[in-house]
Amino acid sequence: MSAGEAILNLLFPPKCAFCGALIDPAGEPGPAGSGPEGKDGGLCPACRAALPLTAGGERLRRVDGFPCAVALRYEDMVRRGVHALKFQNRPQRARVFARYVAQAAAEQFPGGFDAVAFVPVSRWRSYWRGYDQARLLAEECARLWGVKAEPVLRKVRNNPPQSSVKTPAERRANVLGVYAVPHPERAAGRRFLLIDDVVTTGSTLSACARCLMDAGAERVVCAALAGAAR
Ligand SMILES: [Zn+2]
Repeated sequence: MSAGEAILNLLFPPKCAFCGALIDPAGEPGPAGSGPEGKDGGLCPACRAALPLTAGGERLRRVDGFPCAVALRYEDMVRRGVHALKFQNRPQRARVFARYVAQAAAEQFPGGFDAVAFVPVSRWRSYWRGYDQARLLAEECARLWGVKAEPVLRKVRNNPPQSSVKTPAERRANVLGVYAVPHPERAAGRRFLLIDDVVTTGSTLSACARCLMDAGAERVVCAALAGAAR
């Protein structure tokens, strides 16, 4: 650890991205190859042991024909972590979470995209929150790959939150006409990895992926931090 890192750790002690517990920066690194957390941690030992990584078929979903890599199951500890990412000012969680998204996407779509896009939130919501979580995840993933996260999608109509809408048909109807690609030339002929935080029925991701395809994208693949049971 450099002197600068030591001072930063003193001023901003590293906390577990999921439960917020303080992490000993000099503590045990995870076993080699145990996951994308690597030696710089970001998870407390209890959360690392309990992390509900997806496996087998749940690691790749299809949303309306688009493949979607899913890193984690949307269980209690993940729900709390995502909630904290949304509502507490802890964007460093995004760095930890993004490594899991990036790993799941890299496994499913090796070399399969030119740019990273993300599901946008309304300007009203990002104003109150100061940032938006899908964008943070996308920027971190893009940084890991050395490509760019691009705000090619725009939310052009406000809709009730998907969590307030119950049936899959209502969820599909709720996202109709909500998203757009204002500059189709920025999407045309390109292959996108489209990122969101949580995928449930996939209505939001598929509405966004369709907008990119309608704008002329060559291919869209998706990745989400967590997948809720359908
Ligand atoms: Zn923890």
